[in-house]
Amino acid sequence: MPTKIQSAIRITLTYAIFGSLWILFSDSVVNALVSDPAVMSQIQTFKGWLFILVTTGLLHWLVLSSLHSFEEQNELDPLTHLLRHYLFKQRLSAMLLRPRPNQSLMLIYIDIDAFSDINGQFSYETGDQVLVATASRLMNFYSSDVIIGRVGADQFAVAFWTPQSPDNIDTQIHNLRQQLQEVETGLKAPLSHTFGIALAPEDGETSKRLMSSCAEALGRAKKRQRGSVEFHNQALSDKEKGRRSLLTDLRLALQQNTMSIVYQPQFALHGRALTGVEVLVRWEHPELGMVPPDVFIPIAEDYGLSAQITAQVFRMAAEELVGSGLLGNQIPRASINISAVEFNSPPLFAGLQQTIEQYPKLVNHLQIEITETATLANLQHSAAIIQRLHDTGIRFSIDDFGTGYTSLRMLKDLPINEIKIDRSFITDMMHEPKVAAIVNAIISMARSFDLTIVAEGIENQSQIDKLAEMQCNELQGYHLARPMPLKQLQSFISSRA
Ligand code: C2E
Ligand code: CA
Ligand code: CA
Repeated sequence: MPTKIQSAIRITLTYAIFGSLWILFSDSVVNALVSDPAVMSQIQTFKGWLFILVTTGLLHWLVLSSLHSFEEQNELDPLTHLLRHYLFKQRLSAMLLRPRPNQSLMLIYIDIDAFSDINGQFSYETGDQVLVATASRLMNFYSSDVIIGRVGADQFAVAFWTPQSPDNIDTQIHNLRQQLQEVETGLKAPLSHTFGIALAPEDGETSKRLMSSCAEALGRAKKRQRGSVEFHNQALSDKEKGRRSLLTDLRLALQQNTMSIVYQPQFALHGRALTGVEVLVRWEHPELGMVPPDVFIPIAEDYGLSAQITAQVFRMAAEELVGSGLLGNQIPRASINISAVEFNSPPLFAGLQQTIEQYPKLVNHLQIEITETATLANLQHSAAIIQRLHDTGIRFSIDDFGTGYTSLRMLKDLPINEIKIDRSFITDMMHEPKVAAIVNAIISMARSFDLTIVAEGIENQSQIDKLAEMQCNELQGYHLARPMPLKQLQSFISSRA
């Protein structure tokens, strides 16, 4: 039924029900209270006027709310059901009227790169699917107090209040990029996006100013490079430039194969037998020296380079561990980290499968660490690949267990062999009884699933004693062995023989 008719029916029905109830009950109330006919006649006149007054108010409210909902519907994008430009701006103005202490309003414009190519090379239907999938991903990811709009043909906007710290702003962008990389488009390659960002009140106190600051930032980003991020604020843009210059060097390092890997041994808690090694990537920057993976992996994830890093890590691990004859003899198991981005993106995960298959000798002793911060949005898709890989003998481990909120679902839905208790828990359990209780609970749960439990970040003997009481299986940490290159690993192993 058309909304116009629905709306008319709603108004007339409300009016009819209210009028009938009035007639039915008002007379009985008056009759019960008054018996004098003169007073009764005066009250009847007054009642008539009151009826007109109340129904006028009621009609006013009904018509207004109908008009409002018409206006909203006209301002929703029919394809994605997101706010169109005008309504987005209105909502943004309303948000700006309710500032929050120590928070900034972050406005992000997202432009889908090369969208016209998608329309041109495939079809307009494919283009529409991409837009709809992007919109629904944004709607699923953000809570209801975030406003989301489609403000241009291939441009989306989101706005939300968020704590002011620069780290938090970085995290917000990183999370958004990860979400966008997970958009299921059915296309072979992942989409890329360019971002413009403005913060209120600094970059504009009104919706108009803020939106124009954001559009200006997006314009600069698009001119500079696809996939880049520009802030309206120069200082933040400069910081972003720092990341981008690291990105350029990272690309070069990947092209020239100048990254390396190290191995951190893992041990059985009882008897200290070597149970495996975790493979960790290292990057020595020509000028900056060692750049920690915590710094460059998120950049690689943001700019779609994580799969290349994984491929190089696999190649190096296969060459070194298989080449040296250590794997399968002295080292039962090699664990390699993959990014949540790879796990969550179907095309990237399929690529990982190909990479793995190139190294059959590695495969027999391979374990993949999936970080627990993976969002599991594409769990079903990834679960099928994981199951297939698992059937070929590859083990899976959940890294940083306890830090995200998906751990139990991962355990339920995926064929997991091992969990790694995050270092922060191991550190804090020594002085926080609640944390100790959590670690204890994780260990007993994992034991009931028959999983290997590795405690990460062991830095002293008292941690080991406590974990022994809790019946943890395996240990990894600086107190036992630091990450080391192959040569050092070889002598470490022979010194223990
Ligand atoms: P992670 O997977 O949790 O790796 C463990 C990190 O803790 C390593 O840092 C390791 O050197 C450090 N660690 C080990 N024992 C101790 C200890 O007793 N105390 C302290 N304070 N730290 C300890 P690293 O190598 O800097 O790696 C940091 C993170 O970078 C890793 O965390 C992982 O998330 C990521 N990463 C490292 N290599 C790769 C890789 O090849 N691919 C991907 N995708 N991510 C990687
Ligand atoms: Ca790990
Ligand atoms: Ca970890």
